[in-house]
Amino acid sequence: MNRRDFFRLASMAGAGVSAAGLSGLVSAATPAQLGTVPTNTGISGRVVVIGGGMAGATVAKYLRLWGGTGVSVTLVERETTYASNILSNLVLNGQRTMTSLQFGYSNLATRYGIRLVKGDVTAIDSVGHSVSLADGSKLPYDRLVVAPGIDFDTIPGLETAAAQAKVPHAWKAGPQTTILRNQLVAMKPGGVFVMTIPAKPYRCPPGPYERACVVADWLKKNRVGSKVIVLDANPGITAEPLAFANAFNVVHKGVIEYRPGAVINSIDASTMTLNTNFGNLKANVINAIPAHRAGKVIIDNGLANVSGRWAGVDVLTYQSTAAPGIHVIGDAAATTQPKAGHIANQEAKICADAIVRLLAGRSPDPSPITNSACYSPITSDTASWLTAVFAYDPVSGSMQPVPGASGEATARSQDNYKEMFKWFNTLMEDSFA
Ligand SMILES: Cc1cc2nc3c(=O)[nH]c(=O)nc-3n(C[C@H](O)[C@H](O)[C@H](O)COP(=O)(O)OP(=O)(O)OC[C@H]3O[C@@H](n4cnc5c(N)ncnc54)[C@H](O)[C@@H]3O)c2cc1C
Repeated sequence: MNRRDFFRLASMAGAGVSAAGLSGLVSAATPAQLGTVPTNTGISGRVVVIGGGMAGATVAKYLRLWGGTGVSVTLVERETTYASNILSNLVLNGQRTMTSLQFGYSNLATRYGIRLVKGDVTAIDSVGHSVSLADGSKLPYDRLVVAPGIDFDTIPGLETAAAQAKVPHAWKAGPQTTILRNQLVAMKPGGVFVMTIPAKPYRCPPGPYERACVVADWLKKNRVGSKVIVLDANPGITAEPLAFANAFNVVHKGVIEYRPGAVINSIDASTMTLNTNFGNLKANVINAIPAHRAGKVIIDNGLANVSGRWAGVDVLTYQSTAAPGIHVIGDAAATTQPKAGHIANQEAKICADAIVRLLAGRSPDPSPITNSACYSPITSDTASWLTAVFAYDPVSGSMQPVPGASGEATARSQDNYKEMFKWFNTLMEDSFA
């Protein structure tokens, strides 16, 4: 796959591949049509969406664009603005600020007529078809979409809030990202930065390796003689193996030390010591990313029927395999696709398409296609990329990679680095604008 092919696929995030499945109901949205919610689809229903992240914001928008004004959409989000995880590794080297990664919800309300509710959903009544919020209020629904992202296991030793602030994961962009940036800046030359990577599945497969590169690149230029030790619970690099093997062994040789098969027994935040299968390691900064599981609302409401951690779904509709009428999208869902913002956007469109069809008494699209793209900075001005295309396989009932349509960049480049921002802006606009 060349760069042109990659761009063609990456730009599909803007068009939405599932839109093709809507032919016969409403025409697919194009950028020129965005903001026009049709009034004449004849389809009606109440949809509540839990979580206004990459998946939830997108599904809310496309339910209105494809369903029309008869489909009332209520989006419940606990935060006032969305903090993008994507590009948040660049906060660590000072190239982005957290403020520049904030996305508001006002477009979703004013352009698409989505009702916004700021609150925390605590309970789902799948029989009575309503959700309860922490403030005691209830919202009824005909279809519910749950998109809460992920939560983390607790690493032994990091049970308290104080310990977690001293040893941040910074794997949900926000205050912890700023803490980690400040810790990096406070490091002295010749310091040791240790990061831990959890076993798969975790969000953004290349993300931790990208972070190791961004941090190593910054330390090399600003805190000479420092080291980045990467303790990976996986047996090897889980994504973009060519790019990251080259980054670790050539570009950042002598700075990054990569150790696969790592087991973290405990972390002592007071002495900044990790107890691991490689022995005890002392560090100036520890960035410990714990194992992931689906967001709490999934676990608490009986939707985590895959190893007790993830929500099983039918990928034709993203309907939960544990409860009818409830759809789960984004990182919380157990599918064969990566846990990534681009894929969350794609799942949201397949789900919106399916809900509109179901409300109209029709069957879902039998052959959905999704795509994923990801750019990984290797230095402060070069990046590599990764892409994959998935198609529905009726035999296994799962999304499978399309042969020949996936790949990674043959080399990092400055062009890739510039294109990363175009891709990011397009994706975020498609979800939030
Ligand atoms: C450092 C880093 C870099 C990344 N880079 C990339 C990249 O380059 N490309 C890419 O595709 N992906 C990337 N990702 C992954 C991407 O950010 C996630 O896959 C994506 O955000 C998942 O979307 P989501 O909607 O499932 O969850 P989220 O985006 O986390 O959204 C979940 C939302 O639900 C809300 N919520 C949760 N529970 C409740 C509740 N009970 N009530 C109300 N609201 C609730 C939360 O507040 C949150 O706003 C990266 C991740 C990280 C950490």
